[in-house]
Amino acid sequence: MTKFDVAIIGSGPGGYVAAIRCAQLGMKTALIEKYNTLGGTCLNVGCIPSKALLDSSHHYEDALKHFGSHGIEVVGSVKVNLEKMIARKQEVVDQTTAGLEFLMKKNDITVYQGLGSFKDQKTITVSKSDGSSEDLEANNIVIATGSKPNNLPFIQLDKERIITSTEALKLKEIPKHMIVVGGGVIGLELGQVYSRLGAEVTVVEYMDRIIPTMDSGLSKELTKVFKKAKVNILTSHQVTSVDRNKDVVVLKATDKTGKEIEVKGDYCLISVGRKPYTEGLNLAAAGVVTDERGRVVVNDHLQTNVNHIYAIGDVVKGAMLAHKAEEEGTFVAETIAGQRPHIDYNLIPNVVYTWPEVAAVGKTEEQLKAEGISYKIGQFPMRALGRSRASMDLDGFVKVLADAATDEVLGVHIIGARAADLIAEAVVAMEYRASAEDISRMSHAHPTFAEAVKEAALAATENRALHI
Ligand code: FAD
Ligand code: NAD
Repeated sequence: MTKFDVAIIGSGPGGYVAAIRCAQLGMKTALIEKYNTLGGTCLNVGCIPSKALLDSSHHYEDALKHFGSHGIEVVGSVKVNLEKMIARKQEVVDQTTAGLEFLMKKNDITVYQGLGSFKDQKTITVSKSDGSSEDLEANNIVIATGSKPNNLPFIQLDKERIITSTEALKLKEIPKHMIVVGGGVIGLELGQVYSRLGAEVTVVEYMDRIIPTMDSGLSKELTKVFKKAKVNILTSHQVTSVDRNKDVVVLKATDKTGKEIEVKGDYCLISVGRKPYTEGLNLAAAGVVTDERGRVVVNDHLQTNVNHIYAIGDVVKGAMLAHKAEEEGTFVAETIAGQRPHIDYNLIPNVVYTWPEVAAVGKTEEQLKAEGISYKIGQFPMRALGRSRASMDLDGFVKVLADAATDEVLGVHIIGARAADLIAEAVVAMEYRASAEDISRMSHAHPTFAEAVKEAALAATENRALHI
């Protein structure tokens, strides 16, 4: 039986990063993945393919609606070739997962293709697709098995018309009317893809606003943008049934007053969150404990109740984000190597890749109020920037929240062009515990979208934004 210093189960952004870092630190490392390709949800059916389709559909929308105002005339009609669009997405995925195979070889990581399950606390059985199996032993084991889509108990997912994000990434036709249950990240990103491609889209959200965990100012602005694009948004609606009759899907929901509504479409995307995935792991054989939500329980060192077994990423508590999983991958590798790494979970940014993009880090206004912290607000609209006018990306704003007494930046909330990239400045500033004045005194290249961050910081410092 082959013996390893570390065996990692699951090759998503948590698992593969943990593997690379373990190898960098000189450990003999095994990575076990049940699918044929590496990369987990993120690379295969998550972050990467969804961004590929967001980009393609954005180009289409620009050609259809915005080229004219830039003085670009399209001679003939602009048409979508969905099959080609989906094929390009798959090429992007294939290149990215192949890149991971290269990285595993480069770092001398032994990859096992097969389902990993605990035989005992130090032995893992890998069951391969050809029916054979192999045991391996490891001094340390990392569970990085990720998550799967959640469903509502009364909905039968047929994966043809009542679908999850996985099917929505490879549809064979553009829906006429896509109903989206859940106005969170997946619902809005994929809802925007199909809205741009010409589908009518109706988002049904249980809470009183879309992206309900983000700052309410961001929800409000994004709602405006979606409504402008004729996306129907039904908030404060509780879905009671989703049924399919041939090619028609019928959703029923009740509003706050108990009034029932019915929405008919040809596809229904269920995007009501994801749940940790531990099926097939045989955790009982190792005695590893999960909580009431199925998450593997870990301490501050990401150790389970069994000292040498760790767990990271979507399968443990916290935000279900690729970069959170990656940080935790590095964290466990360094912990196993005897180092003392640190993660500040408050500074893990959260991004929605719609256009305009939405990005945030730190505390929301709602959280600061709930925690009784006095704060100042500096807000600056994107439309006041020369860069925004040049590209005609006028929607959105930057909001900086700073401590009323010390001026320390406590939260930055951005909606606008390239917000996903702009948020990195806020993360750096907050990691170094910058004040709003610190940001406002740094030179920001002109003309850039980043100037809105400086202006919002100026507004938070002394209410002295320059360009408004
Ligand atoms: P996963 O990526 O889920 O990987 C777990 C791996 O473990 C899988 O490959 C699985 O096959 C394997 N596995 C499970 N059990 C076993 C077993 N017993 N034996 C062997 N292998 C096993 N996050 C972002 O930060 N940015 C985004 O833009 C973004 N977009 C997303 C879009 C969509 C449509 C979805 C669904 C998710 C998106 N996410 C995004 C979330 C992101 O994909 C996850 O947070 C991330 O993949 C979690 O990484 P992980 O390593 O914990 O698990
Ligand atoms: P989510 O938690 O972002 O959104 C789910 C939404 O569904 C919430 O707004 C919730 O209030 C709503 N909801 C729950 N039950 C409902 C019901 N019965 N009826 C109507 N609405 C209901 O989850 P998601 O969009 O499914 O995404 C899953 C995970 O994947 C998220 O945790 C997210 O972090 C991750 N993800 C991240 C990105 C990104 O970083 N850009 C993109 C996609 C997915």
